[in-house]
Amino acid sequence: MYRQAFEHLEPICESMSILRVAIDIPLPRLFDYLSDDASPQDVGRCVRVAFGRSKKVGVIVALAETSAQASDKLKPAGEILRSLPALSADWLALTEFCSRYYQHPLGEVMAMALPPHLRRGKLPRRKSPASSAETSGNPTLAPVQPVLLPEQASAVARVAAGFGRYAAFLLHGITGSGKTEVYLRLIEQTLAQGRQALMLVPEIALTPQLEERVAARFPRARVVSAHSGMADAARARGFLDALEGHVDILLGTRLAVFAPLSRLGLIVVDEEHDASFKQQEGLRYSARDVAVWRAHQLGVPIVLGSATPSLETFYHARAEGGRYRLLELTQRAVADAPPTVRCIDTRRQKLQDGMSTALLEAISTRLDRAEQSLIFLNRRGYAPVLACPACGWVSRCLRCAANLVVHLADRRLRCHHCGFEAAIPKHCPGCGNLDIHPFGRGTQRLETALAAHFPAARILRVDRDSASTPAKWQAILDTIHGGRADILIGTQMLAKGHDFPLLTLVGVVGADAALFAADFRAPERLFSQLLQVGGRSGRAALPGEVLIQTEYPGLPLYDALLTHDYASFAEIHPG
Ligand code: ADP
Ligand code: ZN
Ligand code: ZN
Repeated sequence: MYRQAFEHLEPICESMSILRVAIDIPLPRLFDYLSDDASPQDVGRCVRVAFGRSKKVGVIVALAETSAQASDKLKPAGEILRSLPALSADWLALTEFCSRYYQHPLGEVMAMALPPHLRRGKLPRRKSPASSAETSGNPTLAPVQPVLLPEQASAVARVAAGFGRYAAFLLHGITGSGKTEVYLRLIEQTLAQGRQALMLVPEIALTPQLEERVAARFPRARVVSAHSGMADAARARGFLDALEGHVDILLGTRLAVFAPLSRLGLIVVDEEHDASFKQQEGLRYSARDVAVWRAHQLGVPIVLGSATPSLETFYHARAEGGRYRLLELTQRAVADAPPTVRCIDTRRQKLQDGMSTALLEAISTRLDRAEQSLIFLNRRGYAPVLACPACGWVSRCLRCAANLVVHLADRRLRCHHCGFEAAIPKHCPGCGNLDIHPFGRGTQRLETALAAHFPAARILRVDRDSASTPAKWQAILDTIHGGRADILIGTQMLAKGHDFPLLTLVGVVGADAALFAADFRAPERLFSQLLQVGGRSGRAALPGEVLIQTEYPGLPLYDALLTHDYASFAEIHPG
């Protein structure tokens, strides 16, 4: 794709060479520059170049002797940034693969994969990192570890048997079944061989708790985190540490799949089904798929873990001779009983603010016992739409087909689809009626209602509005862990990978809406969310209970949930 036309090849003078440079501009080609001091070791290095009237930093992807451009038209390259190690051949191959596979200019792929500092040629100041021999690869690391359950032990053994060559595994296990423990054991063996481990987790799951758990297990290893919420300088430092080989474990969100790790020995993708592994703008890549490619390229094992694998992954793992090998954990590692799951048939009852008597009573019992409840409603805002009962007007987005959601706190209407927003009108734009109503229920409205029902309870709403920054999100997690909240109202943000020992009740309201969504993945997502949300309860010593309010208690999807049965759900909804 990047080969240029060879019609008017012009040899150039002996002492000069031509640099083929990938530059961050939206054109699917490389650019040639002249250099009088380049050597083959410069391939993979960053170089300053003039482009049009601007200055850029590009990456040298090859040295050449001839150019399709006339030699008098070639510009001299600027400084080659030799204080930085060159990006390795396998890193270049990785970005070239993404460029080809996702049909995206190589220069843009590389710019996205590099931290912002580096793509501007700015080098962060760093403490000199410890040398690799001092700190890594010494598993005689290690604090107290639980004795593995038989299924965990067999999973570890099967993956470890494949060290040093490519193999892809699906580790399928309910929440709390000890998947993370399996990853940690595999990472330990990887480090013992002097190699590096890359662990990818969803955006929302990369919390200080997880970082602490990993760091505590490997006190002598160099653990580096990478996610988009980090300050540029910290991200650049982590990238450079990795590039120089001073990293043992890299823990990161989707962008970490591009970390330069020359001794990589193992890749783990936790919650592989999670939507945050897909980048939705610019280069639309799936970090999970890129991770599988990278494992294959490097000849190392990859473990995809999930309680609710994406259907495509599940089929690859189940098919005879399929692409992935299936490892299953069927038991919880700690609590011996999974939460009891029960549907509440809402057709037969009068609801109060959308909540059944059974649910309200269950919350009240938890308040008496100083335990926590979570009400799961996957719809943020006050109400999903504003409507006029007189003329039938509803608040539709002016830019797309979605409805505008009512946000009462700041009196705005917002489109959760495209981001459009407007003030809440004082009267109906259709007929002038002053009496227009929010219709339906979002987390803000539920919060108001619960506060009225339980005035003494400490209520905490957890959605993208209340947890809009990593710091706010962390404060919320601390509040929950510290037992300083009694009732949580949460969207899917709360569904993932958190252990809340005091949480013993999960109430699910408004789940039916997803059943009729246009998106064919909606039931899959609903099932996965409900299973994960259910997994939040009763993870420690206290048994958990899940109550699902629904008008369709007989649906097979809900039946499968009652028995925690992913396999039978997958049969009901075959991809
Ligand atoms: P998952 O990642 O599947 O949700 P974790 O690995 O986080 O599960 O395990 C859940 C809890 O069980 C954690 O507190 C973990 O320390 C504990 N655990 C995991 N494996 C074992 C084991 N074999 N014996 C005792 N406790 C375990
Ligand atoms: Zn009207
Ligand atoms: Zn819109």
